Amino acid sequence: MGPTDVVAAIATAGGRAAIGIVRLSGAELHEFMRALLGRAVAPRQAVLADFLDSDGRAIDRGIALFFPGPHSYTGEDVLELQGHGGPAVLQVLLRRCLALGARLAQPGEFTRRAFLNDKMDLAQAEGVADLIEASSEAAVRAAMRSLKGEFSREIRALVSDLVALRAWVEASIDFPEDLEVLGEDPAWQRFCALRQQLTRIRAIAVSGNLLRDGLQVVLVGQPNVGKSSLLNLLAGEDVAIVTAIPGTTRDTVRSELLIDGVPIHLIDTAGLREGRDVVEKIGIDRTWKAARGADIVLLVIDMERGQTEEDDLIRAELPASARCVVVMNKIDLVGCEPSRLRDEGEIVVAVSAKTGAGIDLLREAILEAAGQVPDGEGVFLARERHLEALTTALLHLEDAEHRFGQVELFAEELRLAQSALGQITGEVTVDDLLGEIFSKFCIGK
Ligand code: GDP
Repeated sequence: MGPTDVVAAIATAGGRAAIGIVRLSGAELHEFMRALLGRAVAPRQAVLADFLDSDGRAIDRGIALFFPGPHSYTGEDVLELQGHGGPAVLQVLLRRCLALGARLAQPGEFTRRAFLNDKMDLAQAEGVADLIEASSEAAVRAAMRSLKGEFSREIRALVSDLVALRAWVEASIDFPEDLEVLGEDPAWQRFCALRQQLTRIRAIAVSGNLLRDGLQVVLVGQPNVGKSSLLNLLAGEDVAIVTAIPGTTRDTVRSELLIDGVPIHLIDTAGLREGRDVVEKIGIDRTWKAARGADIVLLVIDMERGQTEEDDLIRAELPASARCVVVMNKIDLVGCEPSRLRDEGEIVVAVSAKTGAGIDLLREAILEAAGQVPDGEGVFLARERHLEALTTALLHLEDAEHRFGQVELFAEELRLAQSALGQITGEVTVDDLLGEIFSKFCIGK
């Protein structure tokens, strides 16, 4: 059992709404019910009740719902007061709960209690926050898979295979006459199957991470090639100023959009040329800074002008960490058809930001450059820390492979892989990590 003091919070978003909910959780809520409702209400039944102040006057009238622990969200007694969604009335009700001895819940504290009381594991708890944060239908479905425990189940299956293999291997350490066991095919086959599974799950997690965190896409190129026009077209609104005057965009301009459910953080930058004044020079510095943080760089080239030496210089300076898509713009001026092709591994798209021709090809090219594009089915939302844990586990399996003949070292690598995976579901955690995860939740969740 985790903490037992009573916490309270407004669980619904700020502002005016039809319904507003104050939620309480603690080991024992009967006293609170008697004070707030004048009686104890039956478990799991919607009861119309007045919510009372200290003089017995009604603060609000609404639905009271009581979930006795352990059959509740947090595993403790939970009381939900569903009243009218006005900021003032909810504040009065919350203050009343605090006056009765409840403490204001910290962000994510209800879910943290659920985790500490074994109602869900850490990956599921993260799924809760990710579902609330999700910005597309694909992300919603993927977060829901994590929340339901599909990701955790995959991880647990891996852990249990690791444990079984470890036990087998360690038994052979205890009984030296069985030392030969590793040389036999079944152990090797089990090990290979395990590694294959882990590789598969990591690939799904990479897709899931894309759905969650999206891609940083940066438009770079010479002045006047059409970067701002492309940003506006992709964003579907006039975010950046477009003029025929070179050097109009002097600072980075950002826009958020979705391509097939993948969040795209699109950044337009100052055109790259010799800076004419100090403002332009700062803008150009920012362009390079944005490019260094990019997952994908869209290098825009004016087709009418043709590819120039300056374009080659820009391309040579691009950070190796970003994947590059070459966007040949202004095809309307040269009478070209839109196209998308791969040229020596590089993706090249021909479009017109003015007519919109080829813009779908550009969207596809961005996802193609991103690599593992989530196809929706079977993907669970994954965080950076999950990817790190899966990568660490995989590295330990690679080390294990090289130590296949050395039983103790082999078993130790399996143990380290298991420990890395345990961090995903929270079997192996430190308090700092919990603080870090739950502090990002909303209050009342
Ligand atoms: P940036 O400086 O690279 O951001 O370029 P802008 O988006 O501001 O565009 C510079 C000029 O080129 C503007 O006059 C745009 O209307 C024009 N332009 C941009 N894209 C196209 C295109 O595909 N076709 C034509 N004909 N003009 C374009």
